[in-house]
Amino acid sequence: MKNCIIIGGGIIGLCSAYYLAKEGHQVTVLDKSDMSDGCSYGNAGMIVPSHVIPLAQPGMIAQGIKWMFDSTSPFYVKPRLDRELINWGLKFYKHANQSHVEKAMPALRDLSLLSKELYKEFAKENNSFLYQEKGLLMLYKSDAVGEDILHEAKAAENLGLEVSYYSKEEIPSVEKGLNTNATGAVLYHSDAHLYPQKFLAFIKSELEKLGVSIQLNSLVKDFEVSQGKIDTVITTKEKIAADEVILCSGSWSPEIAKKLKLKLSILPGKGYSFSLKNFKGGPTIPSILCEGKVAVTPMGNDLRFGGTMEITHNNDTKINKNRLKGIVNSINEFYPDLDIQIPEEKDTWFGFRPCTPSGLPIISRNEKLKNLVIASGHAMMGLSLAPATGKLVQEIVEGKKLSVSNQLF
Ligand SMILES: Cc1cc2nc3c(=O)[nH]c(=O)nc-3n(C[C@H](O)[C@H](O)[C@H](O)COP(=O)(O)OP(=O)(O)OC[C@H]3O[C@@H](n4cnc5c(N)ncnc54)[C@H](O)[C@@H]3O)c2cc1C
Repeated sequence: MKNCIIIGGGIIGLCSAYYLAKEGHQVTVLDKSDMSDGCSYGNAGMIVPSHVIPLAQPGMIAQGIKWMFDSTSPFYVKPRLDRELINWGLKFYKHANQSHVEKAMPALRDLSLLSKELYKEFAKENNSFLYQEKGLLMLYKSDAVGEDILHEAKAAENLGLEVSYYSKEEIPSVEKGLNTNATGAVLYHSDAHLYPQKFLAFIKSELEKLGVSIQLNSLVKDFEVSQGKIDTVITTKEKIAADEVILCSGSWSPEIAKKLKLKLSILPGKGYSFSLKNFKGGPTIPSILCEGKVAVTPMGNDLRFGGTMEITHNNDTKINKNRLKGIVNSINEFYPDLDIQIPEEKDTWFGFRPCTPSGLPIISRNEKLKNLVIASGHAMMGLSLAPATGKLVQEIVEGKKLSVSNQLF
C-alpha cells in the first residue's frame, strides 16, 4: 500500500483517486479551490470515442489564422509575446500533420472506449449522473464543412466505429425534438453523455466511502526533493510525506511542474457554457453545430450549450461577450424555432481546458522524478477520458501492464 498524493481535484484527479483507493492505497487529494466549479463541472458532458482526430491536425494552422480575424470564431489564440506561447505554437505546428494524426487516432479510440466501459460500470452501480448512450449528432450547413465532417466520419468508420449519415430531409427521423436548418448530419453511435456536476458528486461520495482524504483550499506551493524523488508536498496548510505524487492540475500543471524544475507544455483553452434549466422542446440527442463548433447537450431536464476555444493564460478570467455571441449566433442559426439570448455574466460559466500542443494527454511516469506520475493535458476530452486515465494512473503506480498500451501518452 502506498501513500499517494494527488494534486488537483478535477475529474482526472478524482478518477485517479478512485482507482488507486480501490486497490487499497492511501490517497489524499489536494485542491486549491473548493472543488465546486472548475473546468470539470460546466463542460458539455460528452463522452466521445468519435473524437479520434487530435486538435493538432493538418489544416488547423491555416483555419486558425483565418479565425483569428473574427472575434466570434470558435478558435482563437490570444496574441502575446510570451515564451511559453511561442514554444507551444511551434510544437503545435510540428504536430499538425497526417502522420501524427494517424498514430494518434487508434490510441485515442482505445482510451475513449475503455473510458466509456468504465463509465458504464459506474452507471450500473448508481446512475445518479444521468449517463445515457444516445450517440453524438454532428450537424452541418455548408458543403465545405460537410465535406470535412464526412471525411472525419469515414476515418472513424475505418477504425471500427459505427456511423450513420443523414440528408437534410432525413434529419427529423433522428432528431425528433427540434427542427434544424442543417443540410446534413452524421450520427456517431459510439458516443454517450452525462451530467458532469452530478458525476463529480457521485465520484466524491464513492471516494468518501473508500476513505480518501480530500483537502479543499489547499494550494500546493512547493516540494522537498531528494535523490530524484519527491519526499514531501508543501501546501499553504501543511507538509505531507508522499510515496507517489500524481500531478493532475489541469491547465495549472506547468506552474506546479516548474517548482520541480520540470517543463510541461500545457496552455489553457478557455471555453464557455450556459445552461437552460427545465427547458422543454429542446434537442433530444447531444449535438455539435459544426460550423461554430458549439456543443448542445440535453442533461436531464436541462439543456447545456458550450463552445469556443481561446488559447490564453490562467489569469484571463474575464468573460468575453463576443465569444458568447458566437455561440448564441450558431445556436439560433441552426435551430430556427429557438431564440436564445446572450446569457448574463452571472449565468455564464467558463473553464480552462488543459491543452497540449500534440492534442494528446500526458499520462506517464516522469523520467526525472521517479515517484511522480503526470496525468494532464486532456484538452477538450478530459471528461471523456477521465476514468481510463484514472485506471492507467493506478496501473502506472503499481507497475502493472497498462490496459491501453501506447507510447503516445
Ligand atoms: C466549454 C467546455 C466544454 C467542454 N466539454 C467537454 C465534453 O463534452 N467532453 C469532454 O470530455 N471534455 C469537455 N471539456 C474539457 C474538460 O472539461 C476538461 O478536459 C477537464 O475538465 C480537465 O480536467 P482536469 O481534472 O485535468 O482539470 P481541472 O478540472 O481544471 O482540475 C484541475 C484542478 O487542479 C487544481 N489546482 C490547480 N493548481 C493547484 C495547486 N497549485 N494546488 C492545488 N490544486 C491546484 C484546480 O483548482 C482544479 O480543481 C470541455 C471544456 C470546456 C471549457
